[in-house]
Amino acid sequence: EEVIETVLKAQEERETWDFEADGMVVKVNDICNWEKLGETMHHPRWAVAYKFPAKQAVTKLLEVVWQVGRTGALTPVAILEPVEVGGVIVSRASLFNPDLIKQKDIRIGDYVLVERAGETIPYIVAPVKERRTGEEKPITVPKNCPVCGAPIVKELDEAVPRCPNINCPAQLKEHLIYWGKVLDIKGLGESTANLLLKKKLVSSIADLYYLKKKMLELLKLPGWGYKKTENLLKEIEKSKGAPFWKKITALGIRHVGEKTAQLLAERFKSIEELRNATFIELAGIPGIGPVTATSIKNFFTAEQNLEMIKRLEEAGFLFVRTEEEEKEKSLPKPLEGQRVVFTGELEHFTRKEAQRIIEILGGNPTNSVTRKTNFVVVGKNPGSKFQKAQKLGIRMIGEDEFIQMLKEFAKENKEVEEILREKGLLG
Ligand SMILES: [Zn+2]
Repeated sequence: EEVIETVLKAQEERETWDFEADGMVVKVNDICNWEKLGETMHHPRWAVAYKFPAKQAVTKLLEVVWQVGRTGALTPVAILEPVEVGGVIVSRASLFNPDLIKQKDIRIGDYVLVERAGETIPYIVAPVKERRTGEEKPITVPKNCPVCGAPIVKELDEAVPRCPNINCPAQLKEHLIYWGKVLDIKGLGESTANLLLKKKLVSSIADLYYLKKKMLELLKLPGWGYKKTENLLKEIEKSKGAPFWKKITALGIRHVGEKTAQLLAERFKSIEELRNATFIELAGIPGIGPVTATSIKNFFTAEQNLEMIKRLEEAGFLFVRTEEEEKEKSLPKPLEGQRVVFTGELEHFTRKEAQRIIEILGGNPTNSVTRKTNFVVVGKNPGSKFQKAQKLGIRMIGEDEFIQMLKEFAKENKEVEEILREKGLLG
């Protein structure tokens, strides 16, 4: 019993070993008894081999189905003729992505080597090409999302094909939660998103802005009283007034986070303009490259996304700059195009605040010192960026000089003036 226990334990632990092992040999410790025990035709009686279940097996690949993840990524899954691998019957295996399928030249109808390591999902190691009959068919990426039908797109920087439809049922929950988070809609978290989807009260982000009509159904939700319902509707209504850049962020376009959204809202005054921008135009904006530009163009290829934007705008959720944004835009930008790096602690500003001020002034706060850096603001206990700037001969200023500079700019820029006043830095 002890032997069996030890062997089974080792079988589990082998996943953590640095070497491959396909079994163990159980030996009698007492050498004196070896001769007495003798041997059979094949092996000595004082040693018995125990084989671990094989981690690999060969079986036939019957079909490939494409799963849509919550971020829209399409993953190919192989449907296999059931086979035992490592003591478990396996009938599905991951194929990871189309590039890997191509690289390994895996085809439908192939006999394939399947591996299962530990508790991970089984995957296909390689096809057994010697067993091909010529009937095998290549695996192709579907043209449309298997869940919602939107045309599939590919980002520049990754091998994964994606469904670009923000309202794709496979992705809607994630997007609803993200929408609530970015636009600061209190009460629109995971549990609310789950409930709204389960009760089919929402099948598109735009539906949020038509929920008023479904007041009675909302009131009937478990644990929802009048107050909770009213608060949520109020919060949703309030989000209509969010800045344009936040609304762009909320769309959850790949690679378009807050910073990129701010750049876009600076350049384009409405979603119409953004949508009509060419790839060259987008990729040419400092801070936005071809990867992000592709992603933006991809977003607007989905008919469903355009439809959603239209319905949102009809409900009064407008994708245009707010008055404040327009005002901010018209302020002078003395640091336009300049790259500024901070190192060390500042006495009067957090790193985030300081970077925000640079942005207000049109500059571009960056995290590493390069030849393109215009100047470095050095605080207390500066890091390696200080040495780097010294080596490259980049201009460096201390916090006092930085504040002096801001005071000059504040004469022309109300927003900066306000920040300095709040900090008690203006006379
Ligand atoms: Zn889809």
